[in-house]
Order: sequence, then structure tokens, then C-alpha cells
Amino acid sequence: VEAWKDPSQEPYIRLENVTKKFGDFTAVDNISLDIFKSEFFSLLGPSGCGKTTLLRMLAGFEQPTSGRILLDGEDMSKVPPYLRPVNMMFQSYALFPHMNVEKNIAFGLKQDGVPSPEIKTRVDEVISMVQLEQFAKRKPHQLSGGQRQRVALARSLVKKPKMLLLDEPLGALDKKLRTRTQFELMNIQEETGITFVIVTHDQEEAMTVSSRIAVMDHGRIIQTATPTEIYEVPNSRYVANFLGEVNIFEGRVAENARDHVLIQSQEAGCTIRADHGIDAADGATVWVAVRPEKMYINLEAPDDPNTNCMTGQVWDIGYLGNLSIYHIKLDSGTMVTMARTNKERVVERKITWDDRVYVTWAPDAGVVLLS
Ligand code: ATP
Repeated sequence: VEAWKDPSQEPYIRLENVTKKFGDFTAVDNISLDIFKSEFFSLLGPSGCGKTTLLRMLAGFEQPTSGRILLDGEDMSKVPPYLRPVNMMFQSYALFPHMNVEKNIAFGLKQDGVPSPEIKTRVDEVISMVQLEQFAKRKPHQLSGGQRQRVALARSLVKKPKMLLLDEPLGALDKKLRTRTQFELMNIQEETGITFVIVTHDQEEAMTVSSRIAVMDHGRIIQTATPTEIYEVPNSRYVANFLGEVNIFEGRVAENARDHVLIQSQEAGCTIRADHGIDAADGATVWVAVRPEKMYINLEAPDDPNTNCMTGQVWDIGYLGNLSIYHIKLDSGTMVTMARTNKERVVERKITWDDRVYVTWAPDAGVVLLS
């Protein structure tokens, strides 16, 4: 059982009502959070939402204005950065330009007075872990961005921290290298068992690497959950929108049973059925979120009366190779986005521009949101 699903496990990192103010400005607003041993935990949110500030408090570079941070049960309030079992990898990598890769990596161990033979063993070990064997004698300016990023990672790993904090570690890499490095990071995390806390504003990255994600907004955590949960069952419009494409229809609760709800929606132009209960009174305003890939587009009306069905017209189609994106203008005036995977070779499209269509989705495919 993974630690964060096992209620008997003690959290490795615990934040208790942590607030950080800069003058009048609240950068981190009363956050409580548990992170478990060997998690790959992501702080995800837009620029300025307080991710880096939270990370810097874990590292000890900033003190909380109020609240407590516990590491392995120990209160960190009085513990300076260099005495914490924590290493932080910066966005800028901060390598020494005049030292080659090996020396850059060995530097911290030398400072700590680790004996030379041990330094050699440990440096060799991490160099092979990040696959830099061929580059050991090069200086930073002779390396690509991706290779420099690996040196920085190796330099953090070689100190065998219990926790590694990574602030946008892949920010400087192009899309392809970034994706590949994400998988390498996951492998390294698994191999070493170090608890990783990563800051990112890239939702795909967070989804790929994380055991759990905390989605932040204006210094607060809006939802903490596994990538699947956070994508499939967001707790708010904010989270639904932050994690990829989504169609959202405002409506009012018309019937609220334990196993389903009916929502009257002018935006959708129909009554929407969702197969889960919600905690809202009849008449309350709610929102239904449906992912584009969970919707179907048809030339005929569906047979099943429980299937949600809206009518409209194909507005435009974008061909992306592996899938096509359809924008449908509903008769209600709302524009919806749909995605269809192109399994067969699409030479002629059966459904095309200006077609009158039925847009449908199953009652268990949408999520009703209260905020
Ligand atoms: P980004 O993704 O752009 O790095 P972030 O989510 O990491 O953003 P933080 O760097 O944590 O955001 O900053 C949160 C807020 O606190 C920002 O509005 C920032 O301007 C403010 N802030 C951060 N450090 C300080 C400081 N030392 N003094 C005053 N304000 C600060």
C-alpha cells in the first residue's frame, strides 16, 4: 500500500496552518498539508500563487509568519537550512562555471569533509544514475540545457537528502526533452526512495510524475489528490479548468436523489443527469463539468433516455493527427469542445462543418461542482 493511502502511516512532512506574509501581502494563506515518505508530490498552480514560497519554507530559506512545519515529527522552526535533511534544486541550476561536471557534483561532499574515496564512489554512482558518464570532464558551458539540469540533479542527489525540493526543474528544457526527463526523474525517485516535492505550473508534468498533486490558488490549496482523482473528480471549476480542457454548464438542481441528480441548464439547453449524489438543495446553482473526450457527437438522437443530449451545429474542426478537436455551437448558444481520437485514417470525415449534430455523454461521465 502506498503510504498516503495507509491511515496508520505518519506523515513525513507536516504543515500546520502555515501562513507567510510579506508586509501586508499574504503569499501563503493558512495551509495544512501532509506529505508521506517516498512520495513524488507536486505543487501546481499559476504564477504567483505561492508555490516557491512554500518550497522555500520547507528548505528553511523563509520562516512562516505563523504555523508550524514538522519534518519526520520534528518542529523545524529553529532548524537552519543547512541542518535540515533537505536539498533544494534551483531553477537556475547554479553550477560553478570553472569546475567540470565531476567537481561540481563533488563540491558539497568535500565541504562536508567526506573522505576522498567515498566521494569518488558516490559521485560515480550519481553520474551513472543521471547518465552523464561521457560528460564527466566537461565544464557547464560545454553542456546543453538538459545536461546542465542533470548535473544540478546529480549534485542534489549525491548528498543523499531525505527530501529533495525541485523548483520548476525542467523549465528550461524543450517539450520532447522535458517529457523524457520527467520519466527519468520518476525512475530516479523510485530508485532512491527520496521524497520529492516539485513546483510546477505545467499540469501535464504534474499529472505525469506525481503520486499526488496539490492545486494552489492565491496562497491556498484548493484540492490535494492523485492525478486521476484530480482530473476525473475535480472539486471546483478552478481545478477542473486548471487540469486541461473541460466543458462547464451552469444550472440549477431540479432533483437531488442519493444516487443521481438532475440539473436544469439553460447553458446546455437541456436537463442534465449525473449519476452521483451532491450536497446541495433543490434550486441551488451548480456547475456540471464534462471532459471533451467523454462526449460523443452523433448525427442521430440517442435511444437511451438517460443519456445527456444537446443539439447544435459543427462550428469548426481542428485536425491534430492523433485526434481531432470539434467545436460545436449548441442551440443554446454555448460553445462546446469535443475530442475524438483518429483511430482510422481520416481522409473523408463523416461529420463535417455545419452539420446538425447531437452531443451526448453518459450520466456517469460528468461531475457536478458546487463552486
Ligand atoms: P512562479 O511560478 O511565478 O514562481 P509562485 O507560485 O512560485 O510563482 P511565489 O514565488 O511563491 O509564487 O510568490 C508568491 C507571491 O509572493 C508573489 O505575488 C510574489 O510577488 C510574492 N513574494 C514572493 N517573495 C516575496 C518577497 N521576498 N517579498 C515580497 N513579496 C514576495
